[in-house]
Amino acid sequence: MVAKRLQRKEHATKEDMLPFCRSTVMAVSFRDSFMAALRKRGDPLHWKLNFVPCYLYEYEHAGSTCYFVGEQKLDGDFIKFNNNAGWKNEDPKYSGISEFMQAFSHFTFIQSGSLYMVVDLQGTVDSGTLLLTDPQVISQKKAGEKSPFGHGDLGPVGFKYFMSNHSCGPTCRLLQLQQGFDSLLLSLDPGSLRRAERRSGPGGVIRPLQSASATVHRQRGGTCYANAVATIVRAAESRIIGRRVCPHSSMVDEIVKVHGSSGGDPERVLRLLCPGKCLRFRKLDVEGMLECIKNDRPVLWSFWLCDAEWDEFSAFFRRSPRGVLSRLFKSELRVGSSRIGHACVIESCQGRDLQCKNSWGSNFAADGRFHVDVALVSSPMLASTFIDVYYLEADLRDEDRAAYERAQRWLLNGLR
Ligand SMILES: [Zn+2]
Repeated sequence: MVAKRLQRKEHATKEDMLPFCRSTVMAVSFRDSFMAALRKRGDPLHWKLNFVPCYLYEYEHAGSTCYFVGEQKLDGDFIKFNNNAGWKNEDPKYSGISEFMQAFSHFTFIQSGSLYMVVDLQGTVDSGTLLLTDPQVISQKKAGEKSPFGHGDLGPVGFKYFMSNHSCGPTCRLLQLQQGFDSLLLSLDPGSLRRAERRSGPGGVIRPLQSASATVHRQRGGTCYANAVATIVRAAESRIIGRRVCPHSSMVDEIVKVHGSSGGDPERVLRLLCPGKCLRFRKLDVEGMLECIKNDRPVLWSFWLCDAEWDEFSAFFRRSPRGVLSRLFKSELRVGSSRIGHACVIESCQGRDLQCKNSWGSNFAADGRFHVDVALVSSPMLASTFIDVYYLEADLRDEDRAAYERAQRWLLNGLR
């Protein structure tokens, strides 16, 4: 057993000591989901990861109650893997295990929806088991604000330090963590906080809300474009904490009122719709679309087929509603025939199989959803367009910020 106390204060208060416990509680919680994610992806689990439990002890001194933190004593060589200012262990002797540790830090950031990152990973290694102590949580705290995770919480600048010195290795790739830093986007809603609490108790690890809503809609006339726009705009808004998202049907009605019910250009609609909702949109190439989907953000997909291809498309999903359409043979016959556009939403992917949410009612294909191969959507014959709707922290309204602060406080109170 080792007792920890502060250098600057011999007899500490509970408030002085709680930051250590909060960081450890959070690290343990992320550790569980990290190991589960690795197992799910078929990692042979070369390393076992554990954090030393942290106990808070109370004693009386000169008439007041004082506190210290006690931990199991670690035996063996003590290794530091990273710190809160972007340093990482690059000693070739530890390259495999250090890569694993950097991936854990990256994972905590993604898993928390960019709210937290666990760093300062350090401890001992004993035949494949890592026993870590004294982790530090970095949060979204503002400059000058006191953090519940203590002085080591550098706030968002800590995320930037980490990312500027991080390149994803095999573990990050296995967990599909690769993503740029534009994901300092906040993505969480109070509903998912509450669900997470029910699932795993206070301080449970939070996943950003899964993208498109589960309900399949049936379009009236040529309004697929309006349905697809409403789906991705609502998904983007539901990633903003506390944002009241208007019902799908009223958003579709509003769009149709302006743009009509015989087809429309999603980009033109988004150009008018996004600014009022503090949202942005951008066109993506196939790589960008896949990246977005892997990060649980749905993508609007519009494409063009000629009559014969539409017949083939519909026939395929009548025949095999859960099949994956990978090519259209009629394309080979197409010479100068006119084409009809369609828009839907790509909501998830498994390998090369993309799941699309359609707006032809729940009788179409697999309960209103259909599957296509990446090869098909990439085919130049379809002239596919992919659009991501997103937001930047700087765009948020004051009321969004206030709701975010409230949710943040709620989460931290849960950790006390
Ligand atoms: Zn990484």
